[in-house]
Amino acid sequence: MARVFNFSAGPAMMPLPVLEEIAKEVVDYRGCGMSVMEMSHRSKVYQQIIDEAEADLRDLMNIPDNYKVLFVQGGATLEFAMIPMNLMKNGVADYIVTGAWSKKAASEAKKYGKVNVIASSEDKNYSYIPDVSDLPIDDDADYVYICENETIHGTTYAELPNTKGKILVADQSSMFLSKPVDVTKYGLIYGGVQKNVGPAGLAIVIIREDLIREDLPDFVPTYCRFDTHAKNGSMYNTPNCWAIYVCGKVFKYLKSLGGLSAMDEINKKKAAILYDFLDSSKLFKGTVEKKYRSLMNVPFVTGDADKDAAVVAATKAAGFDNLKGHRSVGGLRASIYNAMPIEGVQALVDFLKKYEAENA
Ligand SMILES: *Cc1c(COP(=O)(O)O)cnc(C)c1O
Repeated sequence: MARVFNFSAGPAMMPLPVLEEIAKEVVDYRGCGMSVMEMSHRSKVYQQIIDEAEADLRDLMNIPDNYKVLFVQGGATLEFAMIPMNLMKNGVADYIVTGAWSKKAASEAKKYGKVNVIASSEDKNYSYIPDVSDLPIDDDADYVYICENETIHGTTYAELPNTKGKILVADQSSMFLSKPVDVTKYGLIYGGVQKNVGPAGLAIVIIREDLIREDLPDFVPTYCRFDTHAKNGSMYNTPNCWAIYVCGKVFKYLKSLGGLSAMDEINKKKAAILYDFLDSSKLFKGTVEKKYRSLMNVPFVTGDADKDAAVVAATKAAGFDNLKGHRSVGGLRASIYNAMPIEGVQALVDFLKKYEAENA
């Protein structure tokens, strides 16, 4: 067995102890004589799996009782539509556009109501987060929307926006469980889990109870109503049983490491190794303004597309996988989520240093 250091932005690395535990249970889950893939979601055994997953997540994130946790299929992308369909009461929402993912979310929301882009960093290819301390919030806005960590452009918020009393909605897909967050500051937090938690095809939605409406327009599909999922314990239809099970394992694993404060410490250390190198390098440079650098996704370039391609090829040959940057930024991108060991980042930096010395 040989595992590579996988710097993919998603689906991404999973913790090895979790994979090994799943492997042990895959043929016979704890004496049931079947795997979790094969069991009824209405069984007692599965009910315990989903209940424990939710309880462990609540514990990890310190989620207050007046928030529901929903396990929804369709990834983060379906939430781009579900959020406006469910939260637009006045038919207006304010979006802050800081990269590819918030841009996509804003254009999807336009199908359901009026979208104001109240701040954007498009002028500098999304390499920073605009000033969000005093924004032109619409009086009628039903919510203010952010993507808190832009996976492709590698930015994150230094401070949350001043929403002037409006509900804050955040896409946390690529930073989910990477650090403690104060859930009470948000009306809704969601994330696709394949970046920092588990297998693709599942979104976790954490929503304040009073935002779950029943008076929705008829066109909203039953599956896309938050109340459908809330009333049915995320089992209106067959849920993504497997992904929920694996996420549950990851929650327990993170708890065993000391929870989200411990992850934050480790993630800061990991990111510093890479950013310190980039800041001292003559060949490479980070593409994001320092204050807004993501701890999870680190884009960097040489400034020359051919050189970038040569570095990507060299890293791949040396056992570092998926470092090619997204085409909209170019260069390289190292995604260093929770499951990337510090040794992986150190080994990559050692390699890049040597590469720089040999190619000066
Ligand atoms: C990957 C990603 C998405 C899309 O997730 P899917 O599960 O593929 O729909 C949305 N937002 C962010 C921030 C992402 O990183």
